[in-house]
Amino acid sequence: MTRAPSSTRLSTEKGLFAILQGMTSQQKPMLSLVIPVYNEHAGLQAFHSSLAEVLEKLSMPYEVIYCDDGSTDGSKDVLATIAANDNAVKTIVFSRNFGKESALSAGIIQAKGEAIITIDADGQHPVELIPKFVDAWKSGARVVVGIRKSTNGNMLKKLESKLFYSVFNKLSSQKLIPGSTDFRLIDQSVQSAFLELGESNRMTRALIDWLGFESTYIKFELNKRMQGKPGYSQRKLLQLAMNSIVSLSPRPLYILGYLGMIVTTIALLLGLTVIVEQIILGDPMHLRITGTAMLGILLLFFVGILLISQGVLAIYISHIHTESKHRPLYVIDYLHSKRIG
Ligand code: UDP
Ligand code: MG
Repeated sequence: MTRAPSSTRLSTEKGLFAILQGMTSQQKPMLSLVIPVYNEHAGLQAFHSSLAEVLEKLSMPYEVIYCDDGSTDGSKDVLATIAANDNAVKTIVFSRNFGKESALSAGIIQAKGEAIITIDADGQHPVELIPKFVDAWKSGARVVVGIRKSTNGNMLKKLESKLFYSVFNKLSSQKLIPGSTDFRLIDQSVQSAFLELGESNRMTRALIDWLGFESTYIKFELNKRMQGKPGYSQRKLLQLAMNSIVSLSPRPLYILGYLGMIVTTIALLLGLTVIVEQIILGDPMHLRITGTAMLGILLLFFVGILLISQGVLAIYISHIHTESKHRPLYVIDYLHSKRIG
């Protein structure tokens, strides 16, 4: 109960701060870049140079927030050098590896810009598209989502991603668009709403989708990694997939209850057949149902009842699951009133 109010206060303070900042600084809106970094030292400098080149041409003030997610390969030192040579750069350094989702959240919380772009540090998200994202935002989109056209990865990765989207979309009431990535732009108002979300098991892009603001989609071809290996091992990917399904949907819990209903119905039908055919009518069809078979049917019936009880428990657990996330009751897009103005 203490969490929701404190996060609300955080974003309210942030909102006031932003208004004050807006009054004192120049009129042009600022762009914030949020970049999670995990063991990217070899390509980081080149990535930053290509990013800075694009940002300079945008002719709007900007800040670049790198969030080092517990790198062990010297990425922190590269980031320190980059920050020393570029006033627009800020770095957040984690004490250990907490995962990309946490790194993204840390950056989004710190971002001061009117628009915030999240982008990978490995060069896979083309920086040349940033002006296109900004244009879409200027034309009114609150969220601009990069959709990758194809995974350059191997067959296994493609299959995995297909499987994930189909399982996720079947199990969850919230749908994810296949190919949607963390290469996205969010408006400051979306950032404020994002900060209200209290859960710690998070998948940033699904949460942004949940907030539900008007979105524009930009398709792009995923580049090859500039260097190194993806920080996500198969095990970590599976963990992320499971986490996102569990945190976004209680639906898997209900499956047991449905199974129980099916099993109980079958047992009831079988039991009824035994009673009518064998006991009442005296076995006219010569089925000669044995005592063991009857016991089996009785057992099936009780298994069904137990599964249904699990389903009932699941309903309660799913309520706790929903409540424990402390999600805001609603997200306001805008207020419209002649009296308020
Ligand atoms: N990353 C991170 N923490 C991790 C793994 C990755 O911050 O534990 C960063 C990584 O440096 C990169 C982005 O998240 O900037 C995407 O990671 P990766 O390339 O491994 O993922 P993929 O491209 O396979 O989605
Ligand atoms: Mg990558």
